[in-house]
Amino acid sequence: MLRNPSDVLTDVFGYPAFRGQQAAIIDHVLSKRDALVLMPTGGGKSLCYQIPALCMEGVTVVISPLIALMQNQVETLQQLGVGAAALNSAHSFEEQDRIKAALMRGEIKLLYIAPERLFANGFLDLLDRLTISLFAIDEAHCVSQWGHDFRPEYLKLSVLTERFPNVPRLALTATADAPTEKDIIERLGLSFGEIYRSGFDRPNIQYRLTPKTGGFNQLRAFIEAEHAEDAGIVYCMSRKRVEQIAEKLAETGRTALPYHAGLDAHVRQETQSRFLKEEGVIIVATIAFGMGIDKPDVRFVAHLDLPKNMEAYYQETGRAGRDGLPATAWMAFGMQDVAKLKMLMQNPDKTLQQQRLDRGKLEAFLQFCESALCRRHLILKYFGETPPEACGNCDNCLTPPAMFDATEAVQMALSAIYRSGERFGAGHIVDILMGGATDKIKSFGHDGLKVYGMGKALNRAEWQSILRQMLALGLVNVDMEGYGSLSLNEACRGILKGDETIELKRAIVKGAKSSSRSAQTRSFASKEEEALFNFLKTIRMALAKAQNVPPYVIFHDKTLIEMAHLKPTTLSAFGELQGVGAAKREKYGPEFVKAIEEQDAPA
Ligand code: ADP
Ligand code: ZN
Repeated sequence: MLRNPSDVLTDVFGYPAFRGQQAAIIDHVLSKRDALVLMPTGGGKSLCYQIPALCMEGVTVVISPLIALMQNQVETLQQLGVGAAALNSAHSFEEQDRIKAALMRGEIKLLYIAPERLFANGFLDLLDRLTISLFAIDEAHCVSQWGHDFRPEYLKLSVLTERFPNVPRLALTATADAPTEKDIIERLGLSFGEIYRSGFDRPNIQYRLTPKTGGFNQLRAFIEAEHAEDAGIVYCMSRKRVEQIAEKLAETGRTALPYHAGLDAHVRQETQSRFLKEEGVIIVATIAFGMGIDKPDVRFVAHLDLPKNMEAYYQETGRAGRDGLPATAWMAFGMQDVAKLKMLMQNPDKTLQQQRLDRGKLEAFLQFCESALCRRHLILKYFGETPPEACGNCDNCLTPPAMFDATEAVQMALSAIYRSGERFGAGHIVDILMGGATDKIKSFGHDGLKVYGMGKALNRAEWQSILRQMLALGLVNVDMEGYGSLSLNEACRGILKGDETIELKRAIVKGAKSSSRSAQTRSFASKEEEALFNFLKTIRMALAKAQNVPPYVIFHDKTLIEMAHLKPTTLSAFGELQGVGAAKREKYGPEFVKAIEEQDAPA
């Protein structure tokens, strides 16, 4: 072994201790055995192969599906003074030759490649001439058809075992439902390796869901109150809505950029690059955005429309707070979304069985939205863990919803749905219950129904909340033609007959201030400290601009926060900060130390 892992951790990366299973995984790899690592986003997967790469003789080959991701890691490593390079189709031939020469000279410890590159002409032969210390297969779920981003080229990776039987392989992913896991093991031939499974919790993310009342205005209020200067992602269902919301957010003075598959490739490239390289940019996107975005300081992910299932929700919200600092996953959901999603799920390209599976997942997700239980508990349970009952960092834990006996109200609503012929959406049903005098009521003669006007004691928001919960509980169905008409489900029989009672969440009274504590992103001991942090940020930005890299590649916010707090005025004190290794101490220490001294000097 060239170096000891904990020395590399402190000297190169500037971190005081390993996290979770990192140390065990690294030891395992150093003993030249295969492993599969299942760890949530932000858990620290990269160090599991980066550190062995620096401890062993030769070069570690990292197989990664996305050029953007590779670039990011290479830049980060180069900043740390580590010899790293990526070989991909974005490079010119000259560039590729230069990298190959550097490889032959042993100057590169980590080589990132796309899977198809392995089989490009002569590449395996090139590898034969090198000492390979490790193959790291990132985003290993791409080998599985069950995974959400299957890559046929990943299937060919089994060649590695045959051709390089003595080189250990480390497969890593954040996606790990049982079928995917099984596929990874089988297809990559890892059955003799160890499996390292970390819990999937992301404790620094605060989960908050709210019924959709004003859509954009709710989003705007949330961002203004809690993330007025932060980078974030807003997910919407359609391209048109993405454009609209981005425009409206821009009108509030924020940098908000639309991103969807309908935009030109170079526009998308530019948008992505601004998101990484500027601070405080908001991306409004369809699900097309996010894969391969490795930005650590995304402080919020907002859903203005319902994602299609828990997997999508967790993956999308997981892009927040990779740096471990507090972040918010916020969502506004409404009944209309459900009808729209169900319509989209009637995809003729899918078998009926797949369509049924999709609908089942959506229904499970709706139950999650309407539940009064701890969100984190429900999420982790969904992914097969046995989490504690309450987390203290989600809306339902912070402001437990009040419950009430809703038996009578539910009976009334069921009756209104049934008596009007099970052909109308929630809006019209509420009109019937509240005794509305709309044209539709009159033309269908619904003012003649027995339930007409019987629900006046409750307001519209309360009725909508009741109907949504009825839907989530499976008491009623919503049709799939996209009109959102409600019909009765078998499950409602007991309540209708008076054999069962039911408790529901009380709707949040409009205008009432939500008492949930917002995610405290940064806490500073004093105004001076905050001012110093902002000043240090400007220095970081200037350094990043000069090198054309994202600011977090220079230092993470966490490091700047600590810097503003501890105010190191010597290089050795500077080197003690989290995230400052030897290379960054030498490269940036003098400038930051000088800035701290100047700022601190009495005026
Ligand atoms: P993943 O690939 O699992 O999403 P990363 O490898 O990108 O996660 O790590 C997430 C963040 O955590 C990175 O900024 C990384 O530098 C940081 N990190 C990883 N391990 C440690 C550690 N032992 N101590 C402090 N920070 C760490
Ligand atoms: Zn909770």
